Amino acid sequence: MIRKVIQRATTAAWSALVLALTPGHWAQAHGVHQHGVARLEVAVEGAQLVIRLDSPLDNLLGFERAPRTAAERTAAAALIKRLESAQGLFLTSPVAGCTLASAEVEAPVLQGGSAREHADLVAEWRYTCRAPERLTGLRVLLFKDYPRLRRLDAAVVGPRGQRAAQLTARLPDLAW
Ligand SMILES: [Zn+2]
Repeated sequence: MIRKVIQRATTAAWSALVLALTPGHWAQAHGVHQHGVARLEVAVEGAQLVIRLDSPLDNLLGFERAPRTAAERTAAAALIKRLESAQGLFLTSPVAGCTLASAEVEAPVLQGGSAREHADLVAEWRYTCRAPERLTGLRVLLFKDYPRLRRLDAAVVGPRGQRAAQLTARLPDLAW
């Protein structure tokens, strides 16, 4: 009975997070754009691990407008390709057997949208884990390759509830 209640609570928390993560809600709820800082939302539900990054584009690219030069176009394309591949971005415990199921990257100013003063990139990765009960955290590897990113404000909804943490290059591990 208690177990069922906990499960229901987790599901409710998950639904709240998913709702909070829809772009409109996200912008309204967080509405902050601070260079050097990004948001990381992690959700573990059943065998699925979902990681969502919402970052000022500046943190990842050094500019926040449509690319103007060949070098900028190359850099923008490389960034999107890298994020879509999820290569070397996050480390999950090998025993959990998580494999990437899908990746989505949205960066409107790089994808033909109009440039404003600031611009964000939102990426979402979905993993399927063979042994999700052995997944107790992840390490963020982004800081090394994207030094303009100094801090990640992370939030997790996992099997044991919710928690928040601030991650940096020196403290890149998110546990739950
Ligand atoms: Zn900006």
